[in-house]
Parts: sequence; C-alpha cells; structure tokens
Amino acid sequence: MVSLTDRNYKPEIVSPAGNLEKMKLAVKYGADAVYFGGKEFNLRDQSGNFSFEEIKEGLRICRHAGVKSIFLMNSFLHEKDIENAKEYIKQIRDFAFNAVMVSDPGMLMLLKEAGIKPDIHLSTQMSTLNRMSIGFWKDAGIKRIVLARETTLDEIKSIREHTDAEIEIFAHGALCVSYSGRCLLSRFLSGRDANQGSCAHPCRWNYALVEEKRAGSHLEIIEHAAGTEILSSKDLSLINVLPDYVNAGVNAFKLEGRMKSLYYAANITRIYKHALQTIINKNDYSKFLPFYTDELDLVSHRPYTGDLFNEFNNLEFNEIPYIKKVLFLGYAISAGKDETEAYIKTFNPVYLNEEIDAIYPIINSNIKDCKIAVKEIIDEDKNETVEMARPDKIYLIRFNKAIDSDAILRRRLKIA
Ligand code: SF4
Repeated sequence: MVSLTDRNYKPEIVSPAGNLEKMKLAVKYGADAVYFGGKEFNLRDQSGNFSFEEIKEGLRICRHAGVKSIFLMNSFLHEKDIENAKEYIKQIRDFAFNAVMVSDPGMLMLLKEAGIKPDIHLSTQMSTLNRMSIGFWKDAGIKRIVLARETTLDEIKSIREHTDAEIEIFAHGALCVSYSGRCLLSRFLSGRDANQGSCAHPCRWNYALVEEKRAGSHLEIIEHAAGTEILSSKDLSLINVLPDYVNAGVNAFKLEGRMKSLYYAANITRIYKHALQTIINKNDYSKFLPFYTDELDLVSHRPYTGDLFNEFNNLEFNEIPYIKKVLFLGYAISAGKDETEAYIKTFNPVYLNEEIDAIYPIINSNIKDCKIAVKEIIDEDKNETVEMARPDKIYLIRFNKAIDSDAILRRRLKIA
C-alpha cells in the first residue's frame, strides 16, 4: 500500500495545456506535469493544440522547468484512421515526451509496434474501475491508469491495496452526464463525435418541450434564470476532500480544462499545487481551505460537486447556472522600466485608474495576491498614453505599486 510515508510517493498535479501559451502559464503556476495534444488523434480538436514546432518548444519549456510532459493520442480509431495514425506516430516518435496517453488498445498496439520510448498512460475513457482491469492494462505495458470518473474513494483505497500501478484521477473541472466521457449525443445531434475529440456539448444546450401536434410551439422549461440544461452536470472539485484522496495513495490529480482560459489553467494549478503541498508537508489544511475555495469560486464554473457519482439518490432538480465572478484581463509577459511597470498582454479591456486583482504563483506558502490600481497605460506602437488598453495587444502599464513579471490580472464582476 502506498502512503504519505513512502519516500517514493510524490503525488503530482497534472495541468491542462490547450496551447503553448497555456502550457507556459501552467508551468509557471506550479504544474508538476502538463498534458497536451498535437493536431491529430487527441480528444479536444477545438482547443488550439500543438504543431510539431510547438511540441518542440513545449518540451523545451517542460525540460527547463522539470515538469513532465504527457502527450495525448487518446482518440478512438476507426479502420480508416489506422494508416494515418501510423504516419503520425512516425512524426512524433522521436519527441522526448515523458508519457503518451491512449484510450484505444489499437493505438497502444501501434505505439508499441513503432517502438515508442515514453511511458504509456491509459485515459479515463477506458472506464477502469477495478484492480483486475488495472492488472490487465499493466500486463499490456501501461504505466499509469487514469481511473474512470465514476470510481469512488473506497474503490480507490481497495485498488491501492491490491496494486502498485500508478493511478491518476480527475480532481477538478467539467464533468458530463456520459459514462467516462463515452457518449453519442454530440454525434447524433450535431454530427460531431465526442470520441474523436469534437464534442459540441449538446448536454449543455437549452432544451424546450414540444407537443407532438404543435411542432412550432416550444414550451419553455424553467430551471433557472438562463433557461434549462436538463442534461447538464455540475463541475467536479475535490478540494474539500483532497486529503482523503492523497491518503488513499493516488499518484496524480488531473485538472480538466484544455479549452478554458489561461487564467483558469494557471489559477486552478496554483491552488491544487499548494493544497497538495500543504497535505504532503502536514501543514494545517483547514487554515488554507477558505482561500482555496474562494479562489476556485473565482474561475468560471458550474456549481461544484465533490462526488457527483454518489449523488444518484438526490432526485431533486438542481440549478446548473454557469458562474463567472471575474474577468481575465491579461498577464505580465515581462518587467517594465521599474518595479511598478510591466508589459501586459491583454485579453479584455483594461481601464485607466481602475482597481483590479493581481494574482501570483504561490511559492513557499507566500500568497502575494493583491489589489492594484492602473496609473498609466502606454501604447508603445503609437508612442502615446491611452485611457483603455484594448484586448489582444501588449501595453506597458504602470500601477500604484510593484508588480512582478508573473502576475495575472483580473477584474471582479458586479453580480446582480
Ligand atoms: S455531449 Fe455532453 S455528455 Fe456527451 S460527451 Fe459531450 S460533454 Fe459529455
């Protein structure tokens, strides 16, 4: 049985890297490992994903920071895909990933045939729920298994007692109503196949009631102010119970969100990394928990659950509104001429004289987050000061106090 007292037990935070920019921030904000896909054969074809040049650059960043790289080859193969997959594997074979993740045993066979060197991880899509399945996959050459999202804490403890295989679980992020992400809804309603990385998320659409003989008459179903999402699920957050899962011997905690913002990836990474360190160092978890829950409330999310799959007895309808309390404004890409200035890459408008939040990576429990006021915005392209920084540009911004070059800026939204 693996436990916190084992010297080899070092649980990891595995962060989403939907593109190179998100990878850089996830690494800066404390990821132990990052997962990302290339332009083909991964289950998020809507996220930016990595060209071969970007893979090279991503691996350089990870190596430099001592962060593990997990490359996703986890789509399911149809017959027509096999030759393309072989060609793609030839092109990625020499990249020094720490691990490649698969779902389809066919992809596993192709990677083995190609003599691929990185460890191979098995995706949650294979619905691994018990030690017998884990033994099977270990024998097949799998180093780490991402358990099915439906696995309970007691099952994880039992699995841990019976196997030394590396096990990873989802700790935070969107869930959906399908079993281990296997679902035909999207393919049926939009032609986009979730198992090929193209889910259109129809479970999040608003639905209405239509009586058979009145086809044009849509009867509204009122679930909450924004309409209804009868197939939508809550989001997962294990932050309240993370110590139980660490004590159960989970090796890695995956944070979902390759399609979410840079801010999202960075903030959840720093919170879960600090939470993990607090548990490992046996510091007072309850002291930091309010900070963790406050911050996780400040990334966009649906209402959280720590145990969706044991909520089946709860037959009441729950509201599933999307919660967004802050707007991601931008992040510092480098220092300015003095400590109160930084070059900020903007994602939303930033206004002169407004007071906003600056958040930072947490190093040695030093939480540097603060309120900061915008004192001057300089558009260096036009060589002029402006009242508003527009999105998708880099400005030199001066603040009322010191800012570090790893800051992320956000504005609190007024909630009606
Ligand atoms: S449609 Fe919804 S339930 Fe189905 S895979 Fe996509 S997100 Fe999951």
